Amino acid sequence: MKVFRVVLIGPPGSGKSTQAEILAVKMRVPFLSTGNLLREFAQGDSQFSKDIKNYLDRGEIVPDELTIQLIKDVVSEEMYKKGFVAEGFPRTIKQAEAMDFLIDQVVCLKIADQEVMDRLLSRQVCPKCGENYNRLTQPPKVEGICDQCQTKLTNRSDDNREVILNRLKIYHETTEPVIAYFQSKNKLIMIDGGLPVEIISEKIYHHINMVTA
Ligand code: AMP
Repeated sequence: MKVFRVVLIGPPGSGKSTQAEILAVKMRVPFLSTGNLLREFAQGDSQFSKDIKNYLDRGEIVPDELTIQLIKDVVSEEMYKKGFVAEGFPRTIKQAEAMDFLIDQVVCLKIADQEVMDRLLSRQVCPKCGENYNRLTQPPKVEGICDQCQTKLTNRSDDNREVILNRLKIYHETTEPVIAYFQSKNKLIMIDGGLPVEIISEKIYHHINMVTA
C-alpha cells in the first residue's frame, strides 16, 4: 500500500482538527495534532513544560527547533509508517523546509478573521478526550457535557479575544507564507473552510483520492 502523509493547515478555528480526524478515519491512518501534542507536554511540572505552556497561553509559536524535533520523533514511530493525517504544522517556513520530505499533500482551510473570532469565542473542549464543540454551531447533546466521555467541558486557555488576535496576527505573518511554499511544490489544495463540515470533508477526500490514484 502506498504511504500517504497529509497535513491540514489554516487559521485557528478553521476546522483543521475536525477535518483531519474525519480524513484519518476514512484513510485508516492515525491522526496527529501538534497542538494536542504540545498541550500534553505543557501539563507537566518541569520548567520545560512551564515554558511550553507560556507559549501556548500567549498563542505564540513554540520555537522551531523544538517543534521540528518533536514532530520528526513522533512520525518516526511505527504506527505512523503507513501514513498519517496531521494538523497544526508546518506553521513557519523553517518548519516547512525541514519537514517537506515528510509531507505528500497539504490541505489549507481558508476562513475570514471575523469568523475565526466568532468560532473560537464559542468553542468548548473536553479536557479528557479532546473532543471539540461549539456552543452555537455544534453543541453537545447535554449542555456543557462531553458526548463521548461525559466530562464537563471547558474553554481553551488561549481562546480569549486578546490571544485570538495575537494568534491571527502570527498566522498572517508567519504561517501564510507556508501556503505559497507548498503551492510552489505542487502539494497544496485550498478549500473554503466556511462550507458545511460534510461538504469540506467530501472535497478533501475526493482530492486525496485523485492525487493518490
Ligand atoms: P492549535 O491547537 O493548532 O490551535 O495550536 C495551539 C498552540 O500550540 C499554538 O497557538 C502554538 O502555541 C502551538 N503550536 C501548535 N502547532 C505548532 C507548530 N507547528 N509550531 C509551533 N507551535 C505550535
